[in-house]
Amino acid sequence: MSPIHTLTELLARLPGLGPRQARRVVQYLLSRDQAYRDTLAKEIQALAARTAQCTRCYRYADATALGLCTTCADGERDQSTLMVVEHDVDIDAIEASLTYAGQYFVLGGLMNMVKQRKEKVIRFKELIRRVNTDVTEVIFALATTPEGDFTAKELSSALSAGGYTGTVSLLGRGLSIGAELEYADPETLRSALKNRG
Ligand SMILES: [Zn+2]
Repeated sequence: MSPIHTLTELLARLPGLGPRQARRVVQYLLSRDQAYRDTLAKEIQALAARTAQCTRCYRYADATALGLCTTCADGERDQSTLMVVEHDVDIDAIEASLTYAGQYFVLGGLMNMVKQRKEKVIRFKELIRRVNTDVTEVIFALATTPEGDFTAKELSSALSAGGYTGTVSLLGRGLSIGAELEYADPETLRSALKNRG
């Protein structure tokens, strides 16, 4: 296959892109100069070489010797609060609100209400393992959608069944229904965090 076809096919697999948009991206790349294409190719390679998944919260971050991201490696942060989010970008949104100084855990998805095969689609077992004796509050900061609420409910039950006796809270409903955390502004997140319950 020609490079145009191969690249179009690869790009079409990206979130939010279909075959039409992928073809437009390829056309755009062809219209740019060689230096831009070289930088792009180099940075994609560097992603794999210099980025690693944090062994504690599971977000992707600059690889460090300890295998921890800067947030998890920060000994000044509160070890007793664990915020469970869906995606890496949610952590950036919460950090930008400057109201939270605890730990994070990236779930990697939400539970499917129909299939309910939780352990296959999200980091279910990893979360149960992560909630150790240091953690006294687990905050579910998931999307305010039926799937988000369902996931929080199922995971809280699983935590209790696993022997967890601490507090479980949900981010305050100041967030509008159907909202994805990553699109919430810092002020909204601050009040949602304050009004958790
Ligand atoms: Zn981490």
